[in-house]
Amino acid sequence: MQSGYVLKSALEPEKEDLAKINRYTRRPFTAEEVYTFKVVLCDNEVDRDGERFASQALQKLAELFRGKSGIFNHSMDAATQSARIYDTKVETDNSRKTSCGEPYTRLVAKAYMPRTQGNQDLILEIDSGIKKEVSVGCSVGSAVCSICGADRRRKDCGHVNGQVYHGQTCCTVLSDPQDAYEWSFVAVPAQREAGVTKSWSKAAGKFESEDAVWGRKWKEKLTQETAKYFTIAYPGIAIETARKMAQGLSPEELEQVEKGLRAEANRHVPLEPQLAVKKDSVDADEGFRI
Ligand SMILES: [Zn+2]
Repeated sequence: MQSGYVLKSALEPEKEDLAKINRYTRRPFTAEEVYTFKVVLCDNEVDRDGERFASQALQKLAELFRGKSGIFNHSMDAATQSARIYDTKVETDNSRKTSCGEPYTRLVAKAYMPRTQGNQDLILEIDSGIKKEVSVGCSVGSAVCSICGADRRRKDCGHVNGQVYHGQTCCTVLSDPQDAYEWSFVAVPAQREAGVTKSWSKAAGKFESEDAVWGRKWKEKLTQETAKYFTIAYPGIAIETARKMAQGLSPEELEQVEKGLRAEANRHVPLEPQLAVKKDSVDADEGFRI
């Protein structure tokens, strides 16, 4: 199973740990000021989805996860706390073989958080083992069948994960990691969601975390809306041109432009027939349809 977990809590930060941590801090922290712990983010064993990372993929993920923050919502007060990965390492245990017969290899990360009043409870939960399992989100560029090497995202080769073909159990091999999105503690230990979250997106052509999918959909929708309002406000401009302009904007710019153009478009297209009786309860935006 690809679930990550806390390997060791309350590490004593060594000198080189502090040097690495202080690369990410605004001012140098002392050993007393930081809480550090070790987590296994993922490994090369087949997970419950019938997927596994290629060993080289773990090396790339080790790079990608360095410096990444994990966000944790404390169950009691819902205050958001975060820890940052300051070091990663790929460890291979040659005495242990995976179900595919490869030496067991795992990606281990060291994370820190400043000791503050606000995260005492979280630290206690990590120390006591209540917070143990972590989930990890990443995207990969390649997902192939372990039996025939077919690209799993483009065609169905007929091989089924978990089935045995000529003595070899079929799985999907993930490699070429593109990005590491997030890592976080799973609220309830041992729940099924623990582990590596990957989702397949046709548009992006790679696996994405759920948050990334939401982000992309939000952007698509906002781009679409912006282009629509653009052509209403400026009828001489083709929708394709407007869309291209919107696509080049940052999220903040896109929101700003969408808002401005929506207001402008509303001036061009009456929200409701001029003679209609205005209903106070109806928000101006709700009546706007084209
Ligand atoms: Zn196949």
